[in-house]
Amino acid sequence: MADAKVSNTFGLKTRVGSTPTFGTNQGKYMSNDLIIRSKCPVCSSTDFYAMCTMGKEYFETSKKGWNYKKTRNIIAGMDFEKNPNMEIKYNKCLQCGIFFTDKVIPIEDAFAKIYGDTKLGEEMFLSSSVNSIIDAVRRIRINSNLVSLGLKNSNSNLKVLDYGCGNGWDLSSFSNLKLEKIVGYNKYNYMFPVIKKYFQKNIILTSDKNELNKIGPFDIIRCNSVLEHVSDPNVVISDIYKLLKPGGYAYFSAPSIKFSEMKKNCKDVEKGIKVKNLHEGHLQIWNNNALSLSKFVHQNGFKIVPAIGGVPFENIANNLSSLRFFLGHIYRASEILKESMKIKLRINNHSAFFAKKIS
Ligand SMILES: [Zn+2]
Repeated sequence: MADAKVSNTFGLKTRVGSTPTFGTNQGKYMSNDLIIRSKCPVCSSTDFYAMCTMGKEYFETSKKGWNYKKTRNIIAGMDFEKNPNMEIKYNKCLQCGIFFTDKVIPIEDAFAKIYGDTKLGEEMFLSSSVNSIIDAVRRIRINSNLVSLGLKNSNSNLKVLDYGCGNGWDLSSFSNLKLEKIVGYNKYNYMFPVIKKYFQKNIILTSDKNELNKIGPFDIIRCNSVLEHVSDPNVVISDIYKLLKPGGYAYFSAPSIKFSEMKKNCKDVEKGIKVKNLHEGHLQIWNNNALSLSKFVHQNGFKIVPAIGGVPFENIANNLSSLRFFLGHIYRASEILKESMKIKLRINNHSAFFAKKIS
């Protein structure tokens, strides 16, 4: 393994060796383990250098950008009153080129404690805003296109998995499509009771990988905003490969940026300006000038199906004859051509795309 667990750093109370009991202790589990990463989480190289450091200044100053969740971070071990020197660095791997944090703090355990034990989880789930509706529309578009890709290989009995199902919004968008099976997997199950309460009964929720293997294989798998949050992204990509049927489709989304953008981001971090992509939750960010997210997925047995605005290239191409009458679509068509060229050259740098399992 690339990581070493350490205890009692930055005031964390650890329970090293304790076994998580997901399923029986909903929301109660808290490991408080802090993982120090001594190797690249993707290629295991020990050849890396620090690009920038996020400390008290960065997390606590400036109200612009993402909000600093003080309670959650204190539970996860970032208590700057007790430990003013607590900091998280972004490293750049000299072997594969990805950017990764030098530490993994137990954020999910803190979420589980906050949202699993109280009504806060339900309140978070029920809150709505214009942005959340816009986001829901985007998700529905992606999910319906994923289903349409899955139908290429199957008559109608589609089995769908949302790997890292979070609060279950995407499961609910699949649930209206009369699919054979809709399964949500999440390592942390603190939101399961809320999902069960508000969504249709035909959704299967599990945090047990053995159960997942028994239910699978799946025709389509959604893996949205998961790869950047896990301590070992290789486990996730190999899980998804194994859980997909041959020729099955997946949707991936995770941050993948240019090296020049990362350098600019790091300058902002040093100035105390908050950067959308750089925080304690983004444990790795792919590098478009070295190992982009799509290259990483491709290396793990997938053919990339590029998407524009959540619509896969294959589906747009089918409608090209009707699009040509509309001036506004010329730009889009040129983008598609550019993307298809990039795919041929394997240099596409999408951070959100569909992918077909090469069988
Ligand atoms: Zn690496």
